[in-house]
Amino acid sequence: MQEGSKTSSSGEIARIYIEQDLISDPVALKIMGKLPSAKVIPIGHYKDVFCRPRQQYEVQRQHRSLIIARNTGRLIYDGAPMCQDFGMENFSYANSLMNCIYDCDYCFLKGVYDTANIVVFVNFEDYKKAVEEKLAQGPLYLCISYDTDLMALNGLCGLCDMWTDYARDKEGLTIEIRTKSAPSHFTVSDHIIYAFTLSPDEVIARYEHGTPGLGSRLEAVRRALDSGANVRLCFDPLMKIEGFDEIYNGFIDRVASEVDLGAVRDMSVGTFRIPADYLKRMRRNCPMSEAAWYPYDNKDGVCGYEETLAARMASQVMDRLCRYTGKEKIYLWD
Ligand code: SF4
Repeated sequence: MQEGSKTSSSGEIARIYIEQDLISDPVALKIMGKLPSAKVIPIGHYKDVFCRPRQQYEVQRQHRSLIIARNTGRLIYDGAPMCQDFGMENFSYANSLMNCIYDCDYCFLKGVYDTANIVVFVNFEDYKKAVEEKLAQGPLYLCISYDTDLMALNGLCGLCDMWTDYARDKEGLTIEIRTKSAPSHFTVSDHIIYAFTLSPDEVIARYEHGTPGLGSRLEAVRRALDSGANVRLCFDPLMKIEGFDEIYNGFIDRVASEVDLGAVRDMSVGTFRIPADYLKRMRRNCPMSEAAWYPYDNKDGVCGYEETLAARMASQVMDRLCRYTGKEKIYLWD
C-alpha cells in the first residue's frame, strides 16, 4: 500500500473506535474526515477494545479497525537488545502507532498483540515532552516507526509529518523512519534518517502482503536521495526461499544498478529472527503463516535460522553488496 492510502490490501477501514473525550480533538477530527464512510464508535479506553480477550486475529486482519486514543502510559521505550542501534547511545523508540496496515507474514507484531486492529495516539504534544526529557540526558536516537510502519499510514494519520517537522531542527535528536512504503516527499535534515526495507520481489510476493513492490520502493529511494535526504537501506530480514542464492544475487545487483549506493548513508543486513515468546504467540494468532511455522533454532530465547545457514545467507548478501560498496557502510546483524 502506498503512503497516504486509506485501505489495507484486504479492505478499507470500516470502523473507528475513539476514546470519547477525543471526539472533538483536531487530529482525531482530521483522521475521521479522511474516512467518511467509517462507522464511529465512542469508547472509554483504547485497551477496552485493543486488549479485549478472545479476539479473532484472522478475521480482524481482513477488516482492520482504527482506534483513536491518547497514550497516558509510557511514550518512549529503551531499544531492545535485538535491535541495532548503529552505534548510537540512548537508542529508544516511540510508539505513536501500534500495529500496521501491512500484513507481513513474519511480522513480530503478530507475536506482540492479539489483535490486528491499529491504535493511533493523537497526543503528539506529550511525545514531544517525553523527547525533551530524554534529550536532557544526552543525544537521543529515536526510532519512530517501530511498532508499525508509520509512513504507510502518514496520509491518514499525519504522524510522520508531525515527527519530521519537530525533529528537523532539534538539537541532539535523530529520528529513524523505517518503512516498506514508497513515499514521494522527504524532509531533508541531518536529524532524520529514512530507512527503507528492501526485499526481492519473490520475498515481497510471498511474505510482505500489501506492501509496494521492489520497483516502487527503489523509486522512492531514488527520490529520497535526489532530494538530499538521509537514506539507510535495510536488507533485513533476509528470508530463506528456494533459489536464495540466485534470487538475492539478482536482487542486490538490481539495487546497485538502480540506486547510487555511494549516496546512501549506511545499510544493514540481517536474517530473520524473533524472540521465542513472540513466535509462540504468532503461531497461535496466525496459524496459516508459513513464516511462523519454519522450524527455527532457539538460541538464548531468540529464534532464527540454524546458525551456519544464517551466517551463509548473511555473508552471501554482504559479499554481493561489497562488490558495489565499502564494507564499513554495512552493519551486519548477527
Ligand atoms: S511493514 Fe513492518 S510493521 Fe508492518 S507488517 Fe510488515 S514487518 Fe510488520
